Amino acid sequence: MSGATTAPARPRPVVQPWARPFWDSARRHELVLQHCNACNQAIHYPRVACPHCGGGDLGWRRASGRGTLYSFTVVESNAPSAFIADMPYVVAVVRLDEGVQMLSNVVQCDPGELRCDQPVEVVFERLDDEFTLPKFRPLR
Ligand SMILES: [Zn+2]
Repeated sequence: MSGATTAPARPRPVVQPWARPFWDSARRHELVLQHCNACNQAIHYPRVACPHCGGGDLGWRRASGRGTLYSFTVVESNAPSAFIADMPYVVAVVRLDEGVQMLSNVVQCDPGELRCDQPVEVVFERLDDEFTLPKFRPLR
């Protein structure tokens, strides 16, 4: 590093026990969603009870990995210090085909070309040995 300033470490996800399958799957480059076995709805973020019916019989299903861009912002200044090197970067809410929304980043894109409702697909970016982050890119 020869005296160069190093960026602080990126924050790591805080994983509740019931969310562990989401992160274990992401590490294998699989996007999974919690699913309620009582009312048959997808759930995200992971919870201990279904937000639709209150049931506790929840399982996991592999998701399509596809969705549309519901909303986004391009961070071009004043990023947290661990992310300054990434600017400009895109923070987005993606509406997955399964009907749930996921806060993530859109990568492999020209931020100026993004538009709401455009199709996106999941990609995986390794953070460290434990965590791989689901992100999205425009579906071409
Ligand atoms: Zn339910």
